[in-house]
Parts: sequence; C-alpha cells; structure tokens
Amino acid sequence: MSRRVLIDGLAFGREGGSLQGEVPLAALTRLADLLLDSTACLTYRVEGGMGSGDRAQLLLQVGGVLTLCCQRCLEPLAYALELRSLLEFVASDSDLTQEDLEDDSRDFLPAEKELDVLALVEDEILLALPTVPRHDDCALPGAAGESTKESPFSVLAGLKGRA
Ligand SMILES: [Zn+2]
Repeated sequence: MSRRVLIDGLAFGREGGSLQGEVPLAALTRLADLLLDSTACLTYRVEGGMGSGDRAQLLLQVGGVLTLCCQRCLEPLAYALELRSLLEFVASDSDLTQEDLEDDSRDFLPAEKELDVLALVEDEILLALPTVPRHDDCALPGAAGESTKESPFSVLAGLKGRA
C-alpha cells in the first residue's frame, strides 16, 4: 500500500532539493510494534543543502502524535513528536574526523544513490523515542489501595521475631 520515496542523497543536497509528505504510521512497521494505535499519519519534510567541508546534508523534520504504551501503568501515552535531524553524507567512515565524531549537532549517513526516505524517517523516530516511555504522573496498575495490606515494617518485625 505504501510507496517508497527514493532520493539520490548527494544530488538532493547539492541541488537544495526539498520534499514533504505524509506517511501513515501503519506503513512504518518497525515503529508500529511500539504503538498502541497506528491509525494516524505523520508529516515529514526533507531539505537538502551543503554543509561545511562541501558535504551534502539533509535536514529531516517529522511531526505528529504517537500513542506509546506507558511502561508504568500500561495505559496509552500521547507523545508529541517533533523531530529535527541534520544528516550529513560521507563516502565512508574513514572520512570522519575526530571533530565530526564529537559533534552532536548532526549525524552521518553513507552516501547512497537510492536513499529510502521513509526508512530514514523511521530510523530517526526510533532513535528519538524515549527508551522507557512513562507518564509524568501515574501509578502502577493496582498499586492504589492495596499497599496497606502488608507494610515493609511489619515484614521486618516478623523477621526480627524469628531470629
Ligand atoms: Zn502511566
């Protein structure tokens, strides 16, 4: 159902290309596994340009709302995605200087003639998501009201009595 969007990364950067579109979450299969609801769409925008050292760059922006699963209460968690990544093409890893590697403002990609834009969008989202998504304020399921059954102090007292 989903179509691939392929660009020549180097040419896209050199020519200052730009493209934007929508991608249904259901088409991003690796991401969909992490979502409680994948009926929505994300919008993306890619702009090409040239960076320092004459390297082609892509500025990737992705926006939308993802429904993650809170790892504490297991209820849906609406996560507003506002991704902005600067990616720079290099011929090979050996082209990277120490300075490049220490620079957190951008990431590097191998130069490809056929760069799959939606796969890149999905990669970048997966990197940007919190590893353990949680509501700011929620409780473990069933934690409320049941915690009074046996306090840790009474367990301790029981152990002492046995010693
Ligand atoms: Zn929660």
